[in-house]
Amino acid sequence: MYKAFSLVLFGLMTCLVAKAQTAAPVFDVQHYRFAIQLTDANDTLKGQAEVRIKFLKDVNSFQLSLARPNDKGKGMLVSAVTEDTKNVPFTQDDELLTINASAKTNSLHSYNIVYQGIPADGLIISTNKFGHRTFFGDNWPNRAHNWLPCADYPGDKAQVDFVVTAPDHYGVISNGLKVEETVLPNHLKLTHWKETAQLPTKVMVIGVADFAIDHPGDAGSIPVYTYVFPENKEQGFKSYAIAKNILPFYIKNVGPFAYKKLANVQSKTIFGGMENAGAIFYFENSTTSPGIEELMAHEIAHQWFGDAASEKNFGHVWLSEGFATYMTNLYLENKYGIDTLKKREAADREMVLSFEKRRLTPIVDTAVKDDYMQLLNANSYQKGGWVLHMLRRKLGDEAFWKGIRNYYAKYNGGNAYTSGLQKIMEQAGGQDLKQFFEQWVYKTGHPDLDITWKYNAAKGIIELKVTQKQERLFKLQLEVATGKHLHTINVNERINIARFKVASKPKELKPDPNVNLLATFTVSEGN
Ligand SMILES: [Zn+2]
Repeated sequence: MYKAFSLVLFGLMTCLVAKAQTAAPVFDVQHYRFAIQLTDANDTLKGQAEVRIKFLKDVNSFQLSLARPNDKGKGMLVSAVTEDTKNVPFTQDDELLTINASAKTNSLHSYNIVYQGIPADGLIISTNKFGHRTFFGDNWPNRAHNWLPCADYPGDKAQVDFVVTAPDHYGVISNGLKVEETVLPNHLKLTHWKETAQLPTKVMVIGVADFAIDHPGDAGSIPVYTYVFPENKEQGFKSYAIAKNILPFYIKNVGPFAYKKLANVQSKTIFGGMENAGAIFYFENSTTSPGIEELMAHEIAHQWFGDAASEKNFGHVWLSEGFATYMTNLYLENKYGIDTLKKREAADREMVLSFEKRRLTPIVDTAVKDDYMQLLNANSYQKGGWVLHMLRRKLGDEAFWKGIRNYYAKYNGGNAYTSGLQKIMEQAGGQDLKQFFEQWVYKTGHPDLDITWKYNAAKGIIELKVTQKQERLFKLQLEVATGKHLHTINVNERINIARFKVASKPKELKPDPNVNLLATFTVSEGN
């Protein structure tokens, strides 16, 4: 996702996070069918969830996440749980629905949960900027359980059907394909969307609003749609149409699109963009945003990284955000050229360095246990992107893309840890990447390099001394330029000496001229 523009919302969100999922799960959800009734009369949602579960252990009870009504009366109250029409005992606490049913290892069970309430979060019921009532799901990171009983963590992916009954003036968009739209009595309409790919709850979604819909084209066999508020139709149809030109870049370089359509939806998400699978939501004023191409490139990249190939848990969220960040840079490099990439990497590097001053933490950040909004930081995004950039330079374009394709092929529909990525990139590149991942991903900080150089006129050489000033030593390759000549120096020790021939004394020595190293530099000419 793209970060929200309003930081105030982050503050509000922090009190709404669920308990972290810590112990190994005792079950694996196979399928959700959420029947949701919405009305214009009030904000109460009436829900019926059918959850098909495969048990991984023998249990006498198990828990789904669901937020019960809080002191403001917002939350979901369960009235019945049944299996095959038989009542199943249950209890609710603040964040959890405990279902007291026995099940054996490897057995499959379907539970029906009837519930209702006003969502405290997760489904944003409000009015858009034109004063029209709208309903937009906004589940990241684990806000789904504010309106859906579910295993609300990315490690449990499942198929999902949304069957929405709402006043008939609304359009309904969701994951997957629309398989039914039926007019009901009393000016109601039932809309059924079905997604057969495995999704984490963070990207399951519905959007219910008055929409103007366009079909600007297809990317191969994938139809691309635009859903915008009718008042923004002209501008929105035009600006969102770029999506159909972005998809082919990822399909060609990474692999097939995992879903059967892509809708780009103007919405009330609290984020700049939210990568819901096959139905990306964008902030309300995105239709006139000059940054729409970049934003779309980011969210569309997430369809591969985050949605289809998901991180196992939020400690590894850079597998979503670092990838979306770098894939955007690659898309833009491909379209606008190498200088665009350099400019963006330089800007990303500044963000990493300034974040590091505020909070020194590794990319794989296991210190964040529940408030996952904290992970929307320059480490997960820009430093994650930089790791991929340096990996690409280390392996070369061919091996890098081979690794990326293999990673997607292996984890499409599943979940990865960072170690899974490392292994695949090692195979693709034919080299050990333990030190690389250790220093860039699992440890904090960056190399701070002091470079002094001296021109030796008698020998026609430059003598270079590179000192690693930071505490922990890195192993890296440093490029320096003298005029038009590029020299590469292996930096492994505290102090590194290098010599190279030059035709004449250079005017200056420029470190990392092609923006390939996440480091800080000081350069001086010695005597
Ligand atoms: Zn993102």
